[in-house]
Amino acid sequence: MPERNANVETVAGPVADLGATLMHEHVFGLSPEILWNWPDIPEGWDLELRAREAADKLTELKDHGIDTIVDLTVIGLGRYVPAVQRVAELTEVNIVVATGLYTYDALPPYFGNRGPGSLFGGPDRLAEFFVRDIAEGIGDTGVKAGILKCASDHLGMTAGCERVFRAVAQAHRATGVPITTHSHSASRGGLEQQKLLASEGVDPGRVVIGHAGDSTDLAYLEELIANGSYLGMDRFGINTISSFEDRVATVAAMCERGHAGRMVLSHDSYCFNDRFDPEVVRRRHPDYHLLHISRDVLPELRRRGVTEEQIHRMLVVNPRDILTRREPY
Ligand SMILES: [Zn+2]
Repeated sequence: MPERNANVETVAGPVADLGATLMHEHVFGLSPEILWNWPDIPEGWDLELRAREAADKLTELKDHGIDTIVDLTVIGLGRYVPAVQRVAELTEVNIVVATGLYTYDALPPYFGNRGPGSLFGGPDRLAEFFVRDIAEGIGDTGVKAGILKCASDHLGMTAGCERVFRAVAQAHRATGVPITTHSHSASRGGLEQQKLLASEGVDPGRVVIGHAGDSTDLAYLEELIANGSYLGMDRFGINTISSFEDRVATVAAMCERGHAGRMVLSHDSYCFNDRFDPEVVRRRHPDYHLLHISRDVLPELRRRGVTEEQIHRMLVVNPRDILTRREPY
């Protein structure tokens, strides 16, 4: 493999060497409208306190061999980059942030009431906002998004999801930053995502089909790879959707079939998320935290015959190849 140097935008500025990278995590998941109106909720938000907690978690992650996380918190999940900037000041872990929009169904009214076919019509602002986040920076932070994110789930490609996917495709081609998705593996949802993005002229090799690792259907996973995309084996620790055993067995089997060059690893965890009760999460999902891959998953993959070279591909080489910005097309 060519050891190409990435020049990737992170919260602290462009980075040439990302090192070992978790491709789908979250620093903060926030509910701004709840916090505005019920600021005294127990999950309450204190930027400095939460930033210090998050930075401590990331620094511990660095001690476990991970150098970079990709924070896929976009509009719809409570993205607030000034808080992530404070975290980046307090830790050496690189944080790549994303732009895009997270919905399984309708668009938020700001976008849903504008654009083609909407109540009030006028131009669609989605792609314009995404491009601005990538080219100029997010809000007045100066932080540039390094990846685009879109989602569809059990409802399939709804009209709202389709508008997001088309806007993400346009912003991708206008800027050259890669795309990652949230997909619903139980309904083999990655396939229609690939089809829609391809219809907008997107090179499937610039796309990660996220949450593919929820599936144990090797034929489905190989179809996604044959179509050209990467697979996000990215919910390690969410063992109610798929067990630890199934998740590691699937990655090991796919490595054995020669697909280490097409998979990336992650947890889809949050340093802080006001939408979960942390105590309930700890009880129900004891492995759902940032250190699970380093502590539990990698040793188990090695035990099943996955080589150091394959692990390096999934944690270092593939993320670098995906995140390295290319020319618009
Ligand atoms: Zn996520």
